[in-house]
Amino acid sequence: MKINGPRTGFGFDAHDFSRSGPLVLGGVSFSGVPRLRGHSDGDALLHALIDALLGAACLGDIGDLFPDTDKKFKGIDSRKLLAEALRRVRRAHFKPIHVDVTVVADKPRLSSHKTALRGTLAALLSLPLSSVSVKAKTSEGTRLLRARGGIAVWAVATLVPVASKGN
Ligand code: MG
Repeated sequence: MKINGPRTGFGFDAHDFSRSGPLVLGGVSFSGVPRLRGHSDGDALLHALIDALLGAACLGDIGDLFPDTDKKFKGIDSRKLLAEALRRVRRAHFKPIHVDVTVVADKPRLSSHKTALRGTLAALLSLPLSSVSVKAKTSEGTRLLRARGGIAVWAVATLVPVASKGN
């Protein structure tokens, strides 16, 4: 099937803090901050990003690929889940060209970590830094977001078709 033009996908995830640490977010470890609760390592940033990538390629969602009822995903490093999602995206003849992520977190304060997060995401996605955006916000005390108890992430990914045999 011939696929024309770019595709955009959107992803969201939110997790509460657990009682143990350290936090893993965007593949980066934050000592002194509790880990997010979850079947895997609780990396809400990578989970939102995975859903954005899968959404752009119309490949379902993270729960379809990695069900939390499956013991083999218990405690798994979410970078492995992202790698598998990227393999599926490429198998569907797409590649990512840009991602944009917004993280709402009251702890840790992410403003000084945005560069590290961008660098890690760029490496995981094989993208230049100029194609990876990370924005960090606090909840500013709004009850709507309740970020004190956890972290919420929104992500957008843009894919372009990759020429394949028969295209
Ligand atoms: Mg999740």
